[in-house]
Amino acid sequence: METMWAPWRGDYITGTVDHEKTKSEECVFCEAQKVQADRDRYIIHRGKNAFVILNLYPYNNGHMMIIPNCHICRPEMMDAETRCEVMDLIIKAEVVLNKVYKPHGINIGANIGAAAGAGIAQHMHFHILPRWNADVNFMTAVANTRVIPESLEISWTKIRDAWNEIP
Ligand SMILES: [Zn+2]
Repeated sequence: METMWAPWRGDYITGTVDHEKTKSEECVFCEAQKVQADRDRYIIHRGKNAFVILNLYPYNNGHMMIIPNCHICRPEMMDAETRCEVMDLIIKAEVVLNKVYKPHGINIGANIGAAAGAGIAQHMHFHILPRWNADVNFMTAVANTRVIPESLEISWTKIRDAWNEIP
């Protein structure tokens, strides 16, 4: 890999826009929790300290997010109870994805901070998504486009039903 030095970019990179300090009133994850109907926001589960929701821009069918209820931006800001609940929800989501989609593998992860790839850096969230061998297909490689065969409505119904069946 080649390195291109660009010291003039330092001010920009360390600059004044702090994407992680937006307020909870402007946060889509805080807003989603206020909506009463789960189907309207594709909420799978509402827990005491965290909730589970479908990603509106899924990488694959079944792409979920596990999100602490409170507006925090880093894992160390979760209290002990929330940490336990989030991990339990991640594991349940894994079980549900295996049941519904029978994937070859599963990605679990979090992007902490905009620089790490977080789309909504101000409210931390864990991604969990099913993967299949060679699911990075021709369209992804050539057209930078992903093909998502199943609608969010159908994914929500299938995942929600499985979630409620599993203790
Ligand atoms: Zn928030």
